[in-house]
Amino acid sequence: MKIRVLGAGYAGVRAALDLNRRLGRRPARISLINRDKHHELITELHRPAAGTTDRRTVAIPLEDIFSGTGVEVIYGTVTDIQVAARQVVLDRRRVLQYDRLVVALGSEPEFFSIPGLKEHSLTLSSLNSAEVIRQHIDAMFAHAATLTDPDQRRPYLTVVVAGGGFTGVEFAGQLADRVPALARRHGVPREEVRLITVEAAPDLLPGFDEPLIDAAVDVLVRKGVRLMLGVPIVAVEPGAVALEDGTRIAARTIVWSGGVRANRLVERCFTTRSRGRAVVNEYLQSVDDPRVYIIGDAALALDPKSGQPVPPTAQHAVQQGRLAARNLWAEVTGRPLKPYTPATAGVVATVGHGVGLARIGPFKLAGRFPAVIKDVNTWRYLYSLGGPGLLLKVWWRQLPLRPARA
Ligand code: NAD
Repeated sequence: MKIRVLGAGYAGVRAALDLNRRLGRRPARISLINRDKHHELITELHRPAAGTTDRRTVAIPLEDIFSGTGVEVIYGTVTDIQVAARQVVLDRRRVLQYDRLVVALGSEPEFFSIPGLKEHSLTLSSLNSAEVIRQHIDAMFAHAATLTDPDQRRPYLTVVVAGGGFTGVEFAGQLADRVPALARRHGVPREEVRLITVEAAPDLLPGFDEPLIDAAVDVLVRKGVRLMLGVPIVAVEPGAVALEDGTRIAARTIVWSGGVRANRLVERCFTTRSRGRAVVNEYLQSVDDPRVYIIGDAALALDPKSGQPVPPTAQHAVQQGRLAARNLWAEVTGRPLKPYTPATAGVVATVGHGVGLARIGPFKLAGRFPAVIKDVNTWRYLYSLGGPGLLLKVWWRQLPLRPARA
């Protein structure tokens, strides 16, 4: 049986590793197809984007994960999935057949058709986009240093973080930590740097627990981030953001963190609903063809208890990867399929270096300890991918999330 896994994000990597573990000695050929040569820890992207850690902290070479396993890693961009013909197309020309397919192509930013937003903002969706943000902010500060008039300098020293969900809060916190070093490095007055988070809802982190929201607000304000809450962005133009209440913020850096949608290829090839996520059955099979499993951010996997879609998070992606592999093994060995039941271990996020927020069961924590939990989670995750060997490799390269010298 030829099993192809598309996408080496959290869901795809887990699915490929578990398929290898479960089916390694059976007549199954497992391949993992990915555009880049590394697995990105996208839960950590805010760090390289803010320039507080090296890009290698979030890029784990696929070779380090899959060498010595039976998984063949194929590099290429999936440009089409032809469900009826059971084939996928890479880079518009290479056609690969499959018997079973696991689609784990992840998400991309959702721009909600806001005029100018896509064209004039940066997003935090991949390692490359994180690099673009870091370099762009550096370039804007360098340009500001060449200007003598503070009014002219202001837009170059203003960063608008558009969206105060977890992505926006984690990035704003990290960037606030980097401001002193950035200002020093470029010789610009630190007090002229403005970091502004704009959030449409009345609070940051809508839907999260109130004491933790308050803690996030306190930390960001203490770090010098200005919060504009309850006011959506309605348009973006080169160098400025327009808010619904008529405010216009002149800013040369606009980072859009206002939400995600499924990879557009999934929408083109499968039945989808809310935000382009593919409709799947209780076993995570596409409703268009049970030979295709769709998992991770691209899938509209429902929590059977609430009937609601599970959020597009890493922990759910990993669980879905595990279940898809388990159900494929069941298909091969003639066992019954197992339905999806998500388990949410908790929510952990950071607000800058050494400050975290966590909701774990009934516990709500803010401060240094949750930040440590987040680092430990990352190390545990790496361990789950490649055992002590991978962890040592990562540590050896000084990967574990240390602040870099600015
Ligand atoms: P999100 O959808 O969770 O948050 C986007 C925020 O942008 C919302 O608060 C929304 O109100 C706001 N927004 C939308 N339109 C706006 C507009 N026009 N103007 C101003 N604000 C606007 O998106 P996200 O933060 O990228 O998170 C995506 C998913 O990833 C979520 O499920 C989230 O829980 C998860 N995530 C988790 C973590 C963590 O657990 N540490 C970190 C990052 C992301």
